[in-house]
Amino acid sequence: QSKAAGRNTSTWFEAGMEQRVAARAALEADLRQALGEGQFELHYQPQCDLRRQMTGAEALLRWRHPQRGMVPPGEFIALTEETGIIIPLGSWVLRTACAQLARWADDARTAQLRMAVNVSAQQFHRPDFVEQVLAALAETGARADRLKLELTESLLLKDVEATIARMELLRTEGVGFSLDDFGTGYSSLSYLHRLPLEQLKIDRSFVWDADSGRHGKAIVHTIAGLGKALRIEVMAEGVETEAQLELIREGGCHLFQGYLYSRPLPPDALQAFIEQASLAAFPV
Ligand code: C2E
Ligand code: MG
Ligand code: MG
Ligand code: MG
Repeated sequence: QSKAAGRNTSTWFEAGMEQRVAARAALEADLRQALGEGQFELHYQPQCDLRRQMTGAEALLRWRHPQRGMVPPGEFIALTEETGIIIPLGSWVLRTACAQLARWADDARTAQLRMAVNVSAQQFHRPDFVEQVLAALAETGARADRLKLELTESLLLKDVEATIARMELLRTEGVGFSLDDFGTGYSSLSYLHRLPLEQLKIDRSFVWDADSGRHGKAIVHTIAGLGKALRIEVMAEGVETEAQLELIREGGCHLFQGYLYSRPLPPDALQAFIEQASLAAFPV
């Protein structure tokens, strides 16, 4: 290997790096501007029980980019986390979702619906997170016991004791917690029972595996059994087909969300969906 070849390789590599750094910087600048200019939107994916009675919805972030059109969160959430933009953005998500929740509370028919909101580790571990959630509820008039915060396993692993204390504080106010993408992270059974969770959410990769006859079916069954033993409800995400629905039903899972029931909807379409939907009458 000659010195020249080594230099060439590194020059080539750096050119690629430079482009990536530039693209990232441009995206970061766009994201900062987006928040100021109101380019973010929340869409809501309806959730339901096995009888397809709607139980609530999950708020999902969308970015309406002036040139690129609708950008899904997978393309920008990680960068907002790395840059800290997730702090003001996450706070906007909470307030916007709570405002929607408060509107549901105005109507007896929709008052039981629950709102699930995704929370990043960076948000959750901020010292003022609890106040932020309580402020969003107070400002909007939403009911704490209809709000469900979706946390991930990696978030919970960081300083378990402090995390449990923080969750319990919000739990006292009535806020519920769901463990999102369950099974894809590093949850340990040794502390799972200590977390004040009201829901486990089976990651959609298992639901899809279940369909193709691999281990997913056994995993769905196991997670549903775990939920039953710990008295935590279990929701399956990403249910797209009747066959998948049948598998989660057989597995003992009672709640689901997925394209089979509804895609994530913008607020107007959500309203129309709710008007024709059959709603679960009691909190589940
Ligand atoms: P997640 O919390 O696991 O959300 C579920 C994802 O699965 C959503 O993708 C949803 O559109 C998609 N999904 C639901 N049902 C189906 C289905 O039947 N088929 C398929 N193919 N997909 C389905 P989305 O909206 O692209 O969000 C991706 C991830 O971005 C979320 O995964 C969540 O981790 C993150 N995210 C979204 N909104 C927020 C937010 O407001 N804050 C934070 N921190 N993260 C968010
Ligand atoms: Mg989620
Ligand atoms: Mg999920
Ligand atoms: Mg997921």
